[in-house]
Amino acid sequence: MPIFEECEKQLNGRVLPGCTETLIAKRYFVQQRLGRGSFGTVYLVLDKKAKDEEKLKVLKEIPVGELNPNETVQANQEAQLLSKLDHPAIVKFHASFLEKESFCIITEYCEGKDLDCKIQECKKNGENIGESQVVEWFIQLLLGVNYMHERRILHRDLKAKNIFLKNNLLKIGDFGVSRLLMGSCDLATTFTGTPYYMSPEALKHQGYDSKSDIWSLGCILHEMCCLEHAFTGYSFVSVVIKIVEGETPSLPNHYSSDLNLLMNRMLNKDPALRPGAGDILQTIYIQEQLQEVKWKLYGASQNDKTLICQRDADQIMKAVQRKFHLQTLRELSEVQKMTPRERMRLRKLNAADEKAKRLKQLAEEKYQENQRRMQELRSRNFQRHSIDVLHAPDAPNHLLQSGPAGARHCQSNDQQNEHEQIPDRLCVSEPTDRVIPEDPRVADEYYKDGFDSCSEDSEEDADEEENSDYESQTIQTTYEQDSDVKAMVLKLKDVLASSCFDTEAATMVTPSIPASSRLINDTMVQTKLQRMKESAVQSMGKKTYNKVYNFLRSARQTNRSEEEVKQYLETLVSRSSECFIVDQILYLEEELQAVCSKTDKA
Ligand code: ADP
Ligand code: MG
Repeated sequence: MPIFEECEKQLNGRVLPGCTETLIAKRYFVQQRLGRGSFGTVYLVLDKKAKDEEKLKVLKEIPVGELNPNETVQANQEAQLLSKLDHPAIVKFHASFLEKESFCIITEYCEGKDLDCKIQECKKNGENIGESQVVEWFIQLLLGVNYMHERRILHRDLKAKNIFLKNNLLKIGDFGVSRLLMGSCDLATTFTGTPYYMSPEALKHQGYDSKSDIWSLGCILHEMCCLEHAFTGYSFVSVVIKIVEGETPSLPNHYSSDLNLLMNRMLNKDPALRPGAGDILQTIYIQEQLQEVKWKLYGASQNDKTLICQRDADQIMKAVQRKFHLQTLRELSEVQKMTPRERMRLRKLNAADEKAKRLKQLAEEKYQENQRRMQELRSRNFQRHSIDVLHAPDAPNHLLQSGPAGARHCQSNDQQNEHEQIPDRLCVSEPTDRVIPEDPRVADEYYKDGFDSCSEDSEEDADEEENSDYESQTIQTTYEQDSDVKAMVLKLKDVLASSCFDTEAATMVTPSIPASSRLINDTMVQTKLQRMKESAVQSMGKKTYNKVYNFLRSARQTNRSEEEVKQYLETLVSRSSECFIVDQILYLEEELQAVCSKTDKA
């Protein structure tokens, strides 16, 4: 039950011009309930300590039950890190605190709709999103994702509903929040992720890393172009099967083959062959588009006099410029006009490019080799078409049997062995992301000098000082400090770290403190399951829900065929796809049960 229930009654859904009586954490007045998410309730609040243009903020209230002191300290440390990050394509994380038995997060308010709403709107009006708009938004998302990945922070739930529009600029919400709330155990990924966007490796319990975020981003790119999910199906299990072993979708012909190719690379089933956000930003196609976006944003920032819009457009432009500047440096024929520092950067850039080219060629060869092997395997295993999408190498037996619709054995033993046999050389292609330390505190240490404090505390200090230059200072410190030289060093580090033989680079980013052992928060799991159930009951009625639930549960146990399941469901509801959520509830319950019995045994 929301802790701010009294406020809701007072507000009755309206935005009040003044403030309500309830003051939270001595500074936030609840204005309006904005919506409910999978784990909590979201409110619009008025921050009495903020400057005019930043007064409206969002408060997310997530019931977590009673946290033990360790969990509280850990959550606070991670929140500290998140509050220090600042990027125009990321919804700003301002602060977090505990209030009664809820974890509260204060973030930037995005008054525009989310990308999912925008897509639905286009679909309803029979409109497409043109390639230039898609690419402009996609570049913004890439810059945001790259910024976070460079800091070793994963999203784990990238989806159109977590992307907001603000002055036609996109902002990614909830970045890093999953880990903050749930740690990084396997189950946390299962519970956080949204099925349509989940990568094959996440579904197969083979680990989640930055490439899994790239998969989700590929799904979002597909959705922007086709106004449909990349992988669809009437049931949860059928979507999972498509993700794990279905064909990679293509974009309609009116989108360029470059964009289609890029999306295909992002949706490669093998995470090692998926490009990272930084790699994508370096592709010729994206580099060409960067210039266009730069001028477009420049124009927007000149014409629009809204301070916030100008600030965001400026910041995106600077981020784009930073990427672009490195490229134009190469083209400078008058090398002597360069400063010694620029010349040094150019030399390093060229050396890095050479190395990247060699590695790319190697990866390309490896890819072709793998394709050949896959082809061979496919023809060898042609008969074995039943796939267990939920098969995990070390999953308990009952999990291996789960899944209606004849979902069996996602990878044959041959395939798995084949995968294991891939020689080390393959690691050369892109192992960087495989060694990303999951713990953002390690990244905080590593990138210490790159972070400028923008936390609520510093804001408070600034408040006290009545610093009128706050706006410009934020832009200056965050974007100028993160200088070209540092970006160059990071680029070099990335390329150097992609060598399997370079153990030094690998240890440099290995966590010095153990990854979080925090288990998934029980209250949050229950809240999520409860909400899913409420939503299913609301759409089909309690009686039908119970029938569907019981039927699907026994169908999972007895391995009924997909067609059989579908036919029976259609006697209960008008479209079997309405039961998707029930299928998902069963999946999550099974996952939870498996972990509980594992823990009990341990
Ligand atoms: P989910 O679990 O699906 O990610 P959230 O808890 O993040 O849901 O958000 C619930 C709803 O609150 C969203 O659908 C959106 O309408 C609204 N919302 C969340 N964050 C913001 C924000 N920063 N600005 C404006 N609205 C937001
Ligand atoms: Mg969200």
